[in-house]
Amino acid sequence: MRLYEYEGKLLFSSAGIKVPGQVLLRTPEDAERAAGSARYPVVLKAQVLVGGRGKAGGVKIARNPDEFVRYAREILNMTIRGEKVAAVLAADYVDIERELYLSIIVDRSARKYLILHSDKGGVDIEEVARQSPEHIFRTTFDPFVGIKEYHAREVARNLGLGAQFTGRVLDLLRKMYEGVMLRYDADLVEINPLAVSGQELIPVDAKVTIDDNAQEPVVEELKRVLGRDPSEGEVHEFNYVKLDGYIGIIGNGAGLTMATMDEVQRFGGKPADFLDIGGGAERGIVKDATKLLLSDPDVKAIFINILGGITRCDEVASGVVEALGESRDKKPIVIRLVGTNEEEGRRILERAGISYYTEMDEAAQAAVRAAGVA
Ligand code: GDP
Ligand code: MN
Repeated sequence: MRLYEYEGKLLFSSAGIKVPGQVLLRTPEDAERAAGSARYPVVLKAQVLVGGRGKAGGVKIARNPDEFVRYAREILNMTIRGEKVAAVLAADYVDIERELYLSIIVDRSARKYLILHSDKGGVDIEEVARQSPEHIFRTTFDPFVGIKEYHAREVARNLGLGAQFTGRVLDLLRKMYEGVMLRYDADLVEINPLAVSGQELIPVDAKVTIDDNAQEPVVEELKRVLGRDPSEGEVHEFNYVKLDGYIGIIGNGAGLTMATMDEVQRFGGKPADFLDIGGGAERGIVKDATKLLLSDPDVKAIFINILGGITRCDEVASGVVEALGESRDKKPIVIRLVGTNEEEGRRILERAGISYYTEMDEAAQAAVRAAGVA
């Protein structure tokens, strides 16, 4: 279950992490009321569950009440990557010196946690992973040991922060882990960007996903803190174009999806579609995309090509297996998957009889063969 940014920040606050002041606006009238008493500049941010709002024009800085009302109206009317904007968040403006990336993700199969961090924050982390992987750092810790000062020292150093930041990094990491991740059964707690502002580290954005199998008391607590049931209202949208071939294509990111189609053609196959699920690859999105292609009678085989630094292979694998389980149409699926938890992902797929590859050309060839047309 993915949470909205403002919800993630509510959880941060409850864990004692200081976030920029925030007011949620659901209507233009809310914006008119809030504009008069706001301290400028104010950042107005579309609340949607898909990423990349900034690039889509969903993050705007208002310098006065007129701009506040105008931008809030604009954003409220927007649809971002197929998802209608649910509300606008008015957030206090932060003076940013540097933008960092910091997240904690759980690696269930290894029973470890991963602190993923980068000194190149503010941009799509999957993009950083592809283009400058040397700027992505991984620090693991054992849940029985917890987060220690030496972890924080390593993270601070990788982020290019001076030694005086070690204490702040440690405090932030512990709150992210104990106060958010453990307390709310989160499987991802991500801050991008984490702003360096003077001597402070301020979360400018928040992405939290809750384990789909979260325990009942946790779900109750979330309902109380957030005022809604986070398992309702998940919307998954993707860029989908139907073509006249017979091999279903799913990729994450437009460039990779295009390359996947080329590769299929190189081995004599014809793509049935272009389906880009966006930068990351979450279980629910993968599942919906797979179901869409399973139900298309023109599709003879499906080639899923997912690549990324923080993509959780086990989650992607589970999404595909769930799609097959819920669909009446059975078709050969070939998947090329690179990311974290690869071992666990491979096991899940093998149990379901799905071919797993790490090389794109081998996978493309297998997909063409599986379609049995060419
Ligand atoms: P996203 O595009 O959906 O990830 O939205 P973010 O909340 O991460 O905002 C995108 C970008 O807008 C950030 O990387 C910043 O560069 C910029 N931004 C957002 N809020 C602020 C702010 O308070 N101050 C400044 N200076 N820039 C901001
Ligand atoms: Mn962001």
